[in-house]
Amino acid sequence: MLKDNVLTNVLYIDLSQKKYWVEVREDLFEKYLGGAGVAIQLLKEECPARSDPLGPDNPIVFAIGPLTALFPLASKTVAMFKSPHTGNLGESHCGGRSAVALRLAGYGAMVIKGASSTPLYLAIHGDRIYFRDASALWGMANSFTVGRIIRQNEPAGGLRTIMRIGGAGEKLIPYACVTTETYRHFGRLGLGAVFGSKKLKAVVISGKHSLPTKDRNQYRKIYDHIYKAATSSPVMKKYHDLGTAENILPLNELGGLPTRNLKEAKFEGALNISGEGLAEGYLGRRLACSHCPVGCIHIAALREPYEDELFFYKTSMISYDYEPIYALGSMLGISDAEGLLKLIDQIERLGLDSMSTGVILAWATEAQERGMISEKETNGLKFSWGDYSSFIQAVQFIFEQPSKFYQDLAQGVKYAAQQYGGEEFALAFSRNEMAGYHTGPAAHIGFLVGARHSHLDNGGYSIDQKILTKEKISPEKLAKELLTEERWRQILSSLVVCFFARGLYTPEICSEALYSAGYDIAKEDLLNIGEEIHREKYQFKMQEGFSLDNYHLPERIFETPSLVGKIDKAFVDKVVKCVKNEIFR
Ligand code: SF4
Repeated sequence: MLKDNVLTNVLYIDLSQKKYWVEVREDLFEKYLGGAGVAIQLLKEECPARSDPLGPDNPIVFAIGPLTALFPLASKTVAMFKSPHTGNLGESHCGGRSAVALRLAGYGAMVIKGASSTPLYLAIHGDRIYFRDASALWGMANSFTVGRIIRQNEPAGGLRTIMRIGGAGEKLIPYACVTTETYRHFGRLGLGAVFGSKKLKAVVISGKHSLPTKDRNQYRKIYDHIYKAATSSPVMKKYHDLGTAENILPLNELGGLPTRNLKEAKFEGALNISGEGLAEGYLGRRLACSHCPVGCIHIAALREPYEDELFFYKTSMISYDYEPIYALGSMLGISDAEGLLKLIDQIERLGLDSMSTGVILAWATEAQERGMISEKETNGLKFSWGDYSSFIQAVQFIFEQPSKFYQDLAQGVKYAAQQYGGEEFALAFSRNEMAGYHTGPAAHIGFLVGARHSHLDNGGYSIDQKILTKEKISPEKLAKELLTEERWRQILSSLVVCFFARGLYTPEICSEALYSAGYDIAKEDLLNIGEEIHREKYQFKMQEGFSLDNYHLPERIFETPSLVGKIDKAFVDKVVKCVKNEIFR
């Protein structure tokens, strides 16, 4: 490896003692590359078995990879922690400026340990680390306002990242997120609550290091190749033009868009909330993560009149993606684009994960429809599909928790269903609320067996569409497809490359790009490293109590026909068994 490669520096911060130090961890970066590979090792080193996820023993690990700030779309940071939502592995990826800022500050990873007794935020400007008092920010529920105030007080505008929590993180809601650069998130599995448990309101990072390359000519060649592929690929153009929201209409057309708590998989109001509909009516600007020429982030401009003020308007800028549109649009039967944007905005401000919140509200709506809960529990709210105003109020109640019912909703859909019934239509996988794909068995098995219970773990939804709609395959083959994809994705998330560029970063290209970053690794070896990282993650999950033996899947996924018809439970059981055998062979 290159000697002066700042990547191997790990910054440790102890919030309890207000201390910090740097350790050079060539051992980890040489063996596991960076990102997820290094982060799982640091998590295992720092997190004692069966720790309280909201206690001081649970560390927060941030890690980037050898391609960060060197190659296009190597723009993500991995966060790893024990999840307060699932009780096992917490892993979340975020772009914005987080990755490039950490690398240029001089670090490949950061471990935040302990907990502060008073609110603070961390300011990391290269090798200068500050523990700033955040008493005035604590209690500020709006994550946008927190970002605005910190922007005015910290240097390095345009270079820095500002990771912060809203009120949901302070309230320790286990599906609270961390927001960066206003429109990007460490969204899933409750990193926001872990921040809150440490009285950590924000982390600001900036730096100006330069990065060495091993062979400038070879670097230039491979850089140009990736850049050209990224800017000329039709897939990337699709993400640039309409963003991930582009997928709403095709998936709806195929019958795989979860609608009204997955009672159906086609939504009659899809056009209004599609990428096309939102671009036509509301698109205000596009943004990109640092070092990305694609710019898939789409921001709507919502202009609303002030009450009782003639000709006075406020304009809110609201980011939208496929997942919030599914969870807060079709899942709740909302076809009014303006109402959907207002609901997204409310959730963003408080710093909740939009997918979890949408699935929880969808369960609550069906539970009320069936008479399992009444307006007594809901503080007078009558939920009905499409009525966004009652959902906006319910989100405020989830944050304020004025009654036991909302305290229960604040624990996630699985917990709420255990209290009131309706587990058969509570759409969670290992307590994590489902993503927006009802494409077939591979999607749902993928949510269940994926290390972080995310659609991005193994892309099961894509296997449904590419393979299962065309042919029947054996449980063994499907298990192999899912595992092969998940193991390869460990490499992408160790480099750390945006998954939208997975078609560009083939094993050959990764190996060549790594060479110019100082790593000499053959593509075959990358596959072995991916398998090892995956196994390491599973070991952590098992240690924390996760098991593939006694899993529960909501009945609803077997009732509503998917792209490949009704999903066969016996087939799902067989595939899960094969996955388990393969992981632990
Ligand atoms: S494609 Fe989108 S999410 Fe991925 S790095 Fe670029 S802007 Fe960020």
